[in-house]
Amino acid sequence: MDQLALTTLDGGEWFMSRPALAQWAAHLRGPAITPDDPGYDAARQVWNAMVDRRPGLIVRCAGVADVLQCVRLTRDRRLLTAVRGGGHNIAGLAMCDGGLVIDLADMKAVRVAPWEGLARVGPGATLGDFDREAQAFGLATPLGINSTTGVAGLTLGGGFGWLSRKFGLTVDNLVSADVVTADGDLVRASECDNPDLFWALQGGGGNFGVVTSFEYRMHRVGPEVVAGLIVHPLAAASEVVPKYRDVVAGASDELSCWLVLRKAPPLPFLPAEVHGQEVLIMALCHIGAAVAARSEIKDLMALGSPVGSHVDTMPFVAWQAAFDPLLGSGSRNYWKSHNLARLDDELIETVVAQVGRLPSPGCEVFIGHLGGATRRPAADATAYPHRDAEFVMNVHTRWEDPAQDDSCIRWARALYADTARFATGGVYVNFVSAGDELVAAAYGMNYQRLCAIKRRYDPQNLFRLNHNLRPQG
Ligand code: FAD
Repeated sequence: MDQLALTTLDGGEWFMSRPALAQWAAHLRGPAITPDDPGYDAARQVWNAMVDRRPGLIVRCAGVADVLQCVRLTRDRRLLTAVRGGGHNIAGLAMCDGGLVIDLADMKAVRVAPWEGLARVGPGATLGDFDREAQAFGLATPLGINSTTGVAGLTLGGGFGWLSRKFGLTVDNLVSADVVTADGDLVRASECDNPDLFWALQGGGGNFGVVTSFEYRMHRVGPEVVAGLIVHPLAAASEVVPKYRDVVAGASDELSCWLVLRKAPPLPFLPAEVHGQEVLIMALCHIGAAVAARSEIKDLMALGSPVGSHVDTMPFVAWQAAFDPLLGSGSRNYWKSHNLARLDDELIETVVAQVGRLPSPGCEVFIGHLGGATRRPAADATAYPHRDAEFVMNVHTRWEDPAQDDSCIRWARALYADTARFATGGVYVNFVSAGDELVAAAYGMNYQRLCAIKRRYDPQNLFRLNHNLRPQG
């Protein structure tokens, strides 16, 4: 190929000769990968195997200078641009067809400053990278439940996990961010610097520029916590979940207990005959003192007649990776998600009935337990608006064979539709699949203010491969 064709924002093409590309790339510290390069196929892969996009150019940025160079090129040539952090987003918007991918995966630096209670994190860091560094000092900030997820995308959508009931969302702990804007400038966003941009980054996704560094407030956590799984037969869910609901309604902020309805993995503490059977799993983590934890968890252990349980003291970093084996990359995935203010009996009955008919063995329904500190800020305190969500239900459809695409997606959509009447109407932006037009539901009451900030920072909508806020509103 004598020249490289790159897709432009209006759907046309811009051509760059090989010598021009070589000259441009010579200024980069990271590699520029074209479709002819041997590393191209690996570089365009993301977590969800449903995503199979072929960018014209992928730049693995080594630092801010590389990001500036990429953004200035895309600005000047009006190129279609995707931004990749950890590559985990279900919608696969970290990759584009024909355009330029600003790939931040190599910018993984994590600097924890225990004396300030702060940490600075690069946009390519995974949750595992961050926790590993922070836990060396017994510190953490709320992140998600799968250690290979990218810190960047998770933060920009809101971010919640085992620490959120105590310390809030990830965005509630964001102190500042360095951002390369659509103008090709680097700015700092914080409560004092560009406060409207800072507010927008706290849940408004990748709409406003490329974040090259995140700064977080840190908290004392662990390094050991009490955590584990209590497993019931699925048939017991209608008896156990209402009691679970009562226990968690009075739970301390230290305790989070999520529900997972799926086929039982071959966990060593489960009898062999339970493996592969549909079960209700209570997954819990208590970040308080061990004595308090055991006393509070007793009430959950006493519910129903579990077929097995394993709850113990363990390193927080180990618990943060506990679900990794079920959530590896390379499978086909489609998600549908509702925010819930409460768990209605009828909702549970509907979910249980559908989990009895899973279209493939890897499918599951997660019900994340929020509440606590996630609900205390006002809905407009940050761009993330869903402060009314006590629970988040994620219909997580997962399979291997493309021939099952239709049946799996149909199953997820049916369960989503059947449970919509029990939901708040809001949806977590980071759980929205490709092709689902849920931007208004995702940004909720903050949508108009976000569009106004988008107009100011990205009037040409250069950053449009995201759950997109159009500058015109
Ligand atoms: P990417 O796909 O790399 O990026 C997603 C989007 O974010 C990009 O398209 C871009 O628009 C934007 N973006 C990324 N980096 C930047 C940047 N530096 N600057 C500007 N824009 C950027 N979420 C939770 O809150 N809690 C959970 O427990 C949780 N568990 C998950 C488990 C799994 C297995 C998966 C797949 C996802 C989970 N998520 C969870 C959702 C997760 O938050 C999103 O998938 C998130 O987008 C992942 O971020 P990423 O950087 O890996 O994604």
